[in-house]
Amino acid sequence: MKILVHVCCAPDAVYFLRRLKEDYPQAQIVGFFYDPNIHPYEEYKLRLVETKRAFEELGIPLHEGEYDIENWLYHVKGYEEEPEKGKRCALCFDYRLLRSLEFAKQIGATHLTTTLLMSPKKDFLMLKESGDKVCKPAGIEFLALDYRKAGGIQEMFKLSKAMEIYHQDYCGCIYGLFKQKKEKSMWDLVSFQGRRPGSKEEKLFIKEVRLFAESQLGLSCKEWEFSFLNWKLLLGKIEVAGEVIPSLVKPFSSSIKGLLKAEPVEKVGNTIYYSKGGLRVILKEKLEDEPLESIEGLCNPTFFVSKDYESILLNNRISATLQTEIAYDNSLMLLVGSERARDIYRVPADTLQDGKGITLEVAKEILVRFSRDIVLGEIALIFVGASTLGDPGSKYFEERTNKKPIPLLCSQTP
Ligand code: SF4
Repeated sequence: MKILVHVCCAPDAVYFLRRLKEDYPQAQIVGFFYDPNIHPYEEYKLRLVETKRAFEELGIPLHEGEYDIENWLYHVKGYEEEPEKGKRCALCFDYRLLRSLEFAKQIGATHLTTTLLMSPKKDFLMLKESGDKVCKPAGIEFLALDYRKAGGIQEMFKLSKAMEIYHQDYCGCIYGLFKQKKEKSMWDLVSFQGRRPGSKEEKLFIKEVRLFAESQLGLSCKEWEFSFLNWKLLLGKIEVAGEVIPSLVKPFSSSIKGLLKAEPVEKVGNTIYYSKGGLRVILKEKLEDEPLESIEGLCNPTFFVSKDYESILLNNRISATLQTEIAYDNSLMLLVGSERARDIYRVPADTLQDGKGITLEVAKEILVRFSRDIVLGEIALIFVGASTLGDPGSKYFEERTNKKPIPLLCSQTP
């Protein structure tokens, strides 16, 4: 007996696969991650990375299907407005199970099932119907296993919490995202350069680091979530005579209503003050972002510009647009090694506004370089999110463990 399991996400997979292994101890089980419905791509990657981690733990092989989102969108065309558990979901199940069936035939599987059956938000009968319809003509049996019963859902939540698995807050597609998260969905869809504090990209980086540390180096990992005051930049631009001047925005700058047109009034030190809205431009030798050491609160709309533009700015009217948001947000930190290690080195998991920061490749090299010392308990590494906005994660870590993380110097990185 060979069972192909279509896998939708790690939380649904961990408990489902454990039960499947118990119920079919003689069966050969193979996983197939196939989620072209997931939007945006970072969310897809996040679910994939966590699924890989869960499968490593389970010791079951996992294959990745294609991310053919355009075909999926075409398949559900006309059903965008359907509610969850409606016709679009039925089409979505058919689409994913049909491709899974192809893969099942390719590897000679005798049975097909899906971890979607574990999700409390999915219609079990709709899934069974879809599975039977897809499988019957091919002579493959669809296993409609109901592991939700008898406390299965609670067990699933317990298990995925214990494994510190990322738990998504919407079903997956762009239509579900709009319906379930409403105005909050905007931040899921905006892509920023690099990995901004509290973003999906930042979370994905931490999860990728963890997958590498655990599965490639056998290092122990632990995560903490923390809340922080986030400042998000949606749009920021300054123009002189219709020409955009390259700029960065000072973190915690307030928004500008509409388009602000203002005259330069005076220059004090390196700062040019304008006639309206408290607008300021700070001239810098080199246009680059810097981490914020501490948060002082909301400030006037402030742009950083290279000194090369000084005379243009001093002699012309400026047009400025700025949309920012301040809100409580969540971020993560990942400890690789023991919190009792002699030294704990801090690596920022987020990047600056200009995208500068540690790449995943460099993070992996750091882990390889220090892996022996980590195993010996000499050092530990902590990858901390939101470090560019006052580093609240390190403060939280220090409060909980009484250990102050030491910034990892550039000379220590590969
Ligand atoms: S809500 Fe979920 S199941 Fe329904 S179409 Fe979207 S991704 Fe598929």
